[in-house]
Amino acid sequence: MPTLDSRLDEVVGGRTATQLEKAFGMRTVADLLAHYPRRLAERGELTELSSLRVDEEVTVVAEVRSSRLIRPGGSSRNVRVEVVVGDGRASLQLVFFGGRNGWRTKELVPGARGLFSGKVGEFRGQRQLVHPEYLLLRGDPLDDLAADTYANRLIAVYPATQAVRSWVIANAVAQALAVLDEVPDPLDAEIRARHGLVSSDAALRGMHEPDDHAQWQAARTRLAWDEALGVQLALAQRRWVAGANPAVPRAARPGGLLDAFDASLPFTLTAGQREVGEVLAAELARPHPMHRLLQGEVGSGKTVVALRAMLQTVDAGGQAALLAPTEVLAAQHARTIETMLGPLARAGELGGADTGTRVVLLTGSLPAAARRRALLDAASGAAGIVVGTHALIQDQVSFAELGLVVVDEQHRFGVEQRDALRGKAATPPHVLVMTATPIPRTVAMTVFGDLETSTLSELPAGRSPITTSVVPALEKPAWLDRAWQRIREEVAAGRQAYVVCPRIGDDMAEFEAEFADYELDEAPGRRPPLAVLEVLPALTETGLKDLRLAALHGRLPAEEKDATMAAFVAGRIDVLVATTVIEVGVDVPNATVMVVMDADRFGVSQLHQLRGRVGRGGHPGLCLLVTEADADTPPRERLDAVAATTDGFALARLDVEQRREGDVLGAAQSGRRRQLRLLSLLRDEDLIVAARAEAADIVAADPTLAAHPLLARQVAALVGDEQAEYLEKA
Ligand code: ADP
Ligand code: MG
Repeated sequence: MPTLDSRLDEVVGGRTATQLEKAFGMRTVADLLAHYPRRLAERGELTELSSLRVDEEVTVVAEVRSSRLIRPGGSSRNVRVEVVVGDGRASLQLVFFGGRNGWRTKELVPGARGLFSGKVGEFRGQRQLVHPEYLLLRGDPLDDLAADTYANRLIAVYPATQAVRSWVIANAVAQALAVLDEVPDPLDAEIRARHGLVSSDAALRGMHEPDDHAQWQAARTRLAWDEALGVQLALAQRRWVAGANPAVPRAARPGGLLDAFDASLPFTLTAGQREVGEVLAAELARPHPMHRLLQGEVGSGKTVVALRAMLQTVDAGGQAALLAPTEVLAAQHARTIETMLGPLARAGELGGADTGTRVVLLTGSLPAAARRRALLDAASGAAGIVVGTHALIQDQVSFAELGLVVVDEQHRFGVEQRDALRGKAATPPHVLVMTATPIPRTVAMTVFGDLETSTLSELPAGRSPITTSVVPALEKPAWLDRAWQRIREEVAAGRQAYVVCPRIGDDMAEFEAEFADYELDEAPGRRPPLAVLEVLPALTETGLKDLRLAALHGRLPAEEKDATMAAFVAGRIDVLVATTVIEVGVDVPNATVMVVMDADRFGVSQLHQLRGRVGRGGHPGLCLLVTEADADTPPRERLDAVAATTDGFALARLDVEQRREGDVLGAAQSGRRRQLRLLSLLRDEDLIVAARAEAADIVAADPTLAAHPLLARQVAALVGDEQAEYLEKA
């Protein structure tokens, strides 16, 4: 009897097997059965034709209204059969060219129902399918296939191609299911019962040939569960491996740097900072590596929390590395940390504290001499804290005793980079990942599922609110003038401002690279997004004449970037015209206004990040989102949503909904995403939470899944060899 592993040609015949392999890469019965129907059509229910989009490959259930053979002017040219099918409201035209199609009017008679499949075209404003394939649904005795496949009330509609139509797939599936042995179930009956899940066998059959919608739903739930469980098992194994690794414990040392720092803090920690601080302190003291994700809104004070963990590490004889996504941010972090530490950061210098350490900055663009010194300080251990960009990951960089790696703004770093830096320590270091992009819980569990999570939910007291407004530049040009005036007012009051543009201004490629993440509704012929290098001179001549303006973007030489940033911090620049280089972490409390040009070109979370740059001091912040998008369009709705709430989690959800599916998991995990056919990170929260708990239990009892071969197979199917290698290395 065939099993899931049987070759397709043995079950559905060579011709169909070849077609299926060509169209979808299917080889085995398992491959075929994993090709799930997109939806179910009811025999009695017609597809809504008004929702069809031009150029879409569709399979619809519709009823024939009329059909006729047309001979224009009695000539033989353009002879065609025109059939009109309808759903009760809208209609769709089917066209078959050539007089030899005349016979079709005999079978496509008014009242006949069928599945019609083809690519939607348009002719003279009428949507049509040219030469569609079709299958009549009355169980026409002439058509065995119809009678066989569609005995059920429900019709599975499959993602199909021009070469392999939905019913060809349905037919192959029916053949396979008819002969397939009972599919073995990787899940214990006990676990199934606990979560009300149907068996694997029932799920596969119910997915393809359901008796009713309830059965289909139950099948989907079970199959989605398998996906969630597979991913969570892989992650649980990763956590298990990580937890089994030894690490040097870095326990707090009373009377050390950390205590001195705490005593010198000009503010009191928030309750959240204290709580998370205790968790980190305890985990650093354990003989296994910490792997923790620290989430917190922009401005929630993550840096202080991280710095305290770094100081505890230094107190315990280790070094800490802080990895930032940009040079601007790395330089700023180094500066901030040195300032916060004061004398504690000047060990060995005149006026430095005896208990102190040294902070060094290590970026790709350091002058050679400074770079040598920094490398030496890292290698000798003289620097307790090394701050840098990905340059830290390079081979030449070595540490005397790397104890803790802090990665800021994780969304810019891949897992491999995290791993590479980890590899710089003799024993695995502790790892703290910080992100200000709030991540929906299920995404955190899936994307960062190998990390434990902490969240800073309150902002330090005294933070001013940020007001955000949308400025429709085309509808209300006067509002844009008003925006520039607001900047002039703030500057007159001694404050500073940002103007953010989506592009630097030398070419288009750079824009596309940066925004490739987003499904931007790119209309053809749309003007290129506004650029720093165009907006800056324009503002100098008009809206912001007489103010001190400067440009900041990623392609400036590093010294110039640093100099500009330093001048802005010192108040010698009024307005920074910048790209998203200022998105992450830039902290200038005196900046109160931000004007975002072509705001609709940014993603929701990105805008939220950006506006977090203003209102960081005691003065209220104002963010103006300038757009030419029309009212009531999706881009405008997105901007209105950003303007309406400062709840980062709500916006993160929206952001995830609008990204292309694969991007949610990141490029590194796109392969995994392809395997997640049914699971939705947004809708299936309960399911993911439950699967995560089950996975943890299973792995706790059987870490390598030796006693659960079918589950191990499921994991392998989802995450591939990557996981096996990972486990082997451990
Ligand atoms: P994040 O990195 O989470 O965006 P930061 O760590 O940069 O936030 O903190 C933002 C600002 O708030 C910094 O200027 C920091 O010194 C200050 N800050 C941090 N914690 C507190 C606190 N408990 N009370 C007052 N100010 C704080
Ligand atoms: Mg920060």
